[in-house]
Amino acid sequence: MNTLDTTLLVLGGGPGGYVAAIRAGQLGIPTVLVEGDTLGGTCLNVGCIPSKALIHVAEHFHQVQAPNPFGVTAGAPTLDLTQAIDWKNTVVDRLTTGVAGLLRKHKVKVIHGHGQIVDGKTVEVGDTRIHCQHLVLATGSCSVALPSLPLGGAVVDSTGALAPTTLPRHLAVVGGGYIGLELGIAYRKLGVKVTVIEAQPRLLPTYDAELTQPVIDRMLQLGITLLPGHAVEGYDPATQQLTLRDPAGSTHTLDTDRVLVAAGRVPRTTGYGLERLNLTMAGRAVRIDDTCRTSMTNVWAVGDLTGEPLLAHRAMAQGEMVAEVIAGHTRAFTPAAIAAVCYTDPEIVVAGQTPEQAGAGALVAMFPFAANGRAMTLGATAGFVRVVARSSDHLILGWQAVGPGVSELAAAFSQSLELGARLEDIAGTVHAHPTLGEAVQEAAMRALGQALHI
Ligand code: FAD
Ligand code: NAD
Repeated sequence: MNTLDTTLLVLGGGPGGYVAAIRAGQLGIPTVLVEGDTLGGTCLNVGCIPSKALIHVAEHFHQVQAPNPFGVTAGAPTLDLTQAIDWKNTVVDRLTTGVAGLLRKHKVKVIHGHGQIVDGKTVEVGDTRIHCQHLVLATGSCSVALPSLPLGGAVVDSTGALAPTTLPRHLAVVGGGYIGLELGIAYRKLGVKVTVIEAQPRLLPTYDAELTQPVIDRMLQLGITLLPGHAVEGYDPATQQLTLRDPAGSTHTLDTDRVLVAAGRVPRTTGYGLERLNLTMAGRAVRIDDTCRTSMTNVWAVGDLTGEPLLAHRAMAQGEMVAEVIAGHTRAFTPAAIAAVCYTDPEIVVAGQTPEQAGAGALVAMFPFAANGRAMTLGATAGFVRVVARSSDHLILGWQAVGPGVSELAAAFSQSLELGARLEDIAGTVHAHPTLGEAVQEAAMRALGQALHI
């Protein structure tokens, strides 16, 4: 067996792991990164990036043929699915190659292979044994498997749904959360019949009903069938029938030639010797403190392995911080908020506290895009921006928005929370016109009883 000594070993090259390794390299820490699949992890290869690329293709295809009030008409478009997937893959390759280049530039040694933990200072990859002083676990998460719907053939997970070689006639989406709705809407816009089956009484149950209503309205307008409160009993590939149980307990069948299982993701904790470390867990996740320390000295964990929220920007921020802590800097991971975006139509973005979390005494105000000039010029006026603030001193506690392209408001929302802005700060900032961001200013003005355009 070959042996290798290093100061830092990062296990997993997704956004948590590769950012930790790049930052460690920048700080002069001798670093080895072990990746069993492709650099970039779930996010770049089978998650954030390919899903947003596919959503963009679908939107483009849909817009060309959508009836509109602008007087623009076009012939029926055609879709070259192979070319669309090739384009998506080009975007992914560009990013993963970029990550490899950055790691090289910062002198991180990348070892391709499946790592097996021997102990808190030793990992084996094939016939190489690596000894380290610090071990960062960044092994990510995997899809929840439903026993009634084993993957294979017509039953796919998000990875399969992001790389189709053909489009189905009817896609049944099991799980009305982030993945189910983002990909369900995209497939519908590509011309596929779509049914979304959600176990809970509401779709996107983690968001409040006011926020999700414009998305529900749009899905119904697009012709997507929504089945909240339904349980899935199984799929028969021979008859291409999915058996469902409705809220009243009756069973039904659905003719469908593809089933997307999108019932959540869980930390990846098996198959690589994690149990040998006997770490303290928090449910299914590795428990960490606010410096990403686990219960074992010099063993750290970042990203999806450490539990909710399972978001790439959280993994990256933790990865950057943990490298600095290992380098001896005084750091802690205590963000004022971690924004979350759902790339539905319309998009949803949340940051900080909701009205419910802030309690009855909080100031809450919303400004609808129906009164925003830029939204009107985009022909997309559904949705609103909502602000939540402390009534005593107007400190902003949270933002929520649903509307066209509101993902880009995440920056403004996070910055205002991180900088401790008050309603007066946002209301008193001159916002460019005409922009969707004016709705942010108007929401703050409305909370102060000073809205101008409503
Ligand atoms: P991962 O990205 O999962 O990376 C872990 C890496 O570790 C993998 O490359 C894996 O191969 C490697 N690994 C695991 N075990 C070993 C081992 N023993 N040896 C060697 N290598 C190993 N988040 C967002 O913020 N925005 C989005 O828009 C978004 N969209 C998504 C869409 C989809 C379809 C999916 C599935 C997820 C999406 N996410 C999104 C979530 C995001 O992808 C994850 O939060 C993020 O990738 C987590 O980063 P990570 O580094 O913790 O883990
Ligand atoms: P999710 O937790 O968002 O949604 C899963 C949904 O499936 C839930 O609504 C749940 O009630 C439902 N469900 C569970 N079991 C079911 C069953 N047997 N039948 C019907 N419905 C069932 O999970 P996801 O959509 O799989 O996404 C996984 C994670 O990936 C998310 O937690 C998110 O953090 C991340 N992600 C983020 C983005 C983004 O940031 N835009 C996009 C995609 C994924």
